[in-house]
Amino acid sequence: MINETHNPALRSWVASANAPGCDFPLQNLPFASFRRQGSQEAFRVGVAIGDQVLDLGAPGVAAALKCEPRVAAALAQPGLNALMALGHAVWSALRLALSRALREASPAQAALQAALLPQSQVEYSLPARIGDYTDFYTSIYHATNVGKQFRPDNPLLPNYKWVPIGYHGRSSSIVVSGQSFHRPKGQLMAPGAAAPVLGTSQRLDIELELGIFVGQGNTLGESIPMSEAEDHVFGLCLLNDWSARDIQAWEYQPLGPFLAKNFASTVSPWVVTLEALAPYRTAPFRPAEDPQPLPYLDTPQNRESGALDIQLEVLIQTAQMKKDGLSPHRLVQTSYRHAYWTLAQLVTHHTVNGCNLQPGDLLGSGTLSGPTLDQAGALMELSAGGKNPIALPNGETRTYLQDGDTVALRGHCSREGTARIGFGECAGTLLPAKST
Ligand code: MN
Repeated sequence: MINETHNPALRSWVASANAPGCDFPLQNLPFASFRRQGSQEAFRVGVAIGDQVLDLGAPGVAAALKCEPRVAAALAQPGLNALMALGHAVWSALRLALSRALREASPAQAALQAALLPQSQVEYSLPARIGDYTDFYTSIYHATNVGKQFRPDNPLLPNYKWVPIGYHGRSSSIVVSGQSFHRPKGQLMAPGAAAPVLGTSQRLDIELELGIFVGQGNTLGESIPMSEAEDHVFGLCLLNDWSARDIQAWEYQPLGPFLAKNFASTVSPWVVTLEALAPYRTAPFRPAEDPQPLPYLDTPQNRESGALDIQLEVLIQTAQMKKDGLSPHRLVQTSYRHAYWTLAQLVTHHTVNGCNLQPGDLLGSGTLSGPTLDQAGALMELSAGGKNPIALPNGETRTYLQDGDTVALRGHCSREGTARIGFGECAGTLLPAKST
């Protein structure tokens, strides 16, 4: 629902929020968990405005926003779980209060000014305590491209157009943007070999995804119908589901991904609320000749506007590029609107059997490859399984990642007659394998 908080003409008394191209104008207002860089302070909840963070736990802030006591208590927590648990009406009221308080000429400016910190001086934790993590497979282009490599004779399995495919991942290895991780070891089965060996992954890949944070959950045994599914979504972040393709190829049958995926997954610190994304809704993509979703996954509203046009990009900066002072190079540009399954369908399908979601649970969209190969969200697609090296502007090439590579995901939404809002950055650096 579009409301006064989406008005593109709104301007903030935080001047940097009014700059063209800024990810965090007044119409965005994403949430994160942060503290002063290098400090031992407790993490606390903040909202981004321009190049600043408004500390929502700072003295006087909840009062200036006229929050009721249970909301003020949630804003005083180190992460977003308590706020997520309060539900859609509370999030919406808080967004309106923040929008009004941060507008030009707001009487709240005096009370809030002291609670601002430059984003350049803070560090982040995970936005929420992630209890459970489920990764989906919502791009039919990715599923087909990957399927061709793992099963040339049978790329897209027959259930794909009926079931939003997913697997249960691990939340313990999800980290926030800016962290490094070591190249993983695992069982590798070389083509034609008689037995696998334990070795270092040579096919370390990225997966360009969005993370969907669950807000209010559901009781075990009860399902969430499509008509209510989006009320259970707090917001979206960027997600890089780093993947070891050689480990994956050997282990994934018959139960799906395991150690190829759970050595590291990186999320962006800022969670953009579903309400902030309202102006960028669009009809989901589903060819007329494909089976229509079963009735429990289908509503007129979903057909009309269940998808989101979120522009996504992947940037790489190799160790050599860093040494030479070269800027990151954009590998890919695509959009979330190409997804085959919508986020409402993911929530409803996940709970159709009575599985309970909880505040802070994370759903991965799956790799968001677009219709053409240059919009693919994984290196195994871009390099055709390592056969076609990708040329970088400085003369280097890549099939899979090399040690020292930094990969950053970015996302933004813009549409005629709306403000441009962004997701910030989701970056991670691959370190060499540990020697022991
Ligand atoms: Mn994935």
